[in-house]
Amino acid sequence: MPLPSPRPGILDITPYKAGSSSAPGASKLYKLSSNESALGMSDKARAAHDEAAASLHLYPDGGASALREKIAETYGLEAERIVCGAGSDEILQLLTKAYAGEGDNIIQSDHGFLVYKLAAFSCGAEAHFAPEKNLTADIDEMLKLVDDRTKIVFLANPNNPTGTYLPEAEVRRLREALPDDVLLVIDAAYAEYMEALDYSAGERLVNEFENVVMTRTFSKIYGLAALRLGWGYCPPAVADVLNRIRGPFNVTAPAQAAGVAALDDQAFVERNRSHNREERDLLQQQFGGMGLDYIPSYGNFILVRFPNEPGRNADDILSYLKEGGVIVREMYPYKLDDYLRVTIGTREANRKLIELLKEKFSRD
Ligand SMILES: *Cc1c(COP(=O)(O)O)cnc(C)c1O
Repeated sequence: MPLPSPRPGILDITPYKAGSSSAPGASKLYKLSSNESALGMSDKARAAHDEAAASLHLYPDGGASALREKIAETYGLEAERIVCGAGSDEILQLLTKAYAGEGDNIIQSDHGFLVYKLAAFSCGAEAHFAPEKNLTADIDEMLKLVDDRTKIVFLANPNNPTGTYLPEAEVRRLREALPDDVLLVIDAAYAEYMEALDYSAGERLVNEFENVVMTRTFSKIYGLAALRLGWGYCPPAVADVLNRIRGPFNVTAPAQAAGVAALDDQAFVERNRSHNREERDLLQQQFGGMGLDYIPSYGNFILVRFPNEPGRNADDILSYLKEGGVIVREMYPYKLDDYLRVTIGTREANRKLIELLKEKFSRD
């Protein structure tokens, strides 16, 4: 008798490897491998979470009404178009499950966020990768890949791990050249860190077109990664589809409560944003001073290139930093073997990183 076997594509998935969080031996550990919030979380969000913990015996509000209202109010959006999920990851998975299947394909850029590919494979769809220019998504290359089996184009803006972004005009150009029946998913996980005037997270395009979705998260600047909370801003028909296929209670009550309080604490968000801006400038300046190439970043992380020399290449520096108590992220899954991605951490963590790197790259 044959054994149960999963649908095609599933066994082609290499499980997503999260940023490592342990380094045996090091006395103090700095985790700069998962783009988590440098300043932790809002005290108000934590208090709301703890208060919600008094009622863990009750099912959450399946429609996440208060949270959706608060998101709408904070960002100037329509609550009915918002669908919340267990991380934006769940929204990305649900979109793929709803719109792509066997024989279909999704398009993403060459060094784009890998969750899109994993979502496609889990639905039996293919992932097609468009070449980038200067480690930045190239709209024309993405459009060249569109065929009659293309269901979704995923664009992380700004992108993780490269830290580069496309201005609103370019994203609009992508939408305008896409067939109406292809969904454009703009993943704006780092939108709150963005200060460039030509940037937009994508809500205007969602309001204007029936085939554009924007996804957002509480995992980054809001510092609630452990709670798993994200949302999508959708055309009404897409919101309707997601609401049909999501679990009826897909977002926990403590997560909803913490989310509302976190949105109410924009002062925390502003502190995190300024911290990130200052420390990012400083780190980039230090990398430059050591002769290390880096990609100027718009997120809370920086992609740094290492020379192809024993003892100083990306692999060796990854281990060396780990021994010193600083965990950063390897980049070969993104076809960026010479690079490491470092999350911008606390002042102390960033100083430690620089101190360790200077021992290998000081210019004398
Ligand atoms: C971190 C990140 C997310 C957020 O994932 P969650 O599931 O919301 O924690 C989404 N997209 C990109 C590009 C990211 O880097």
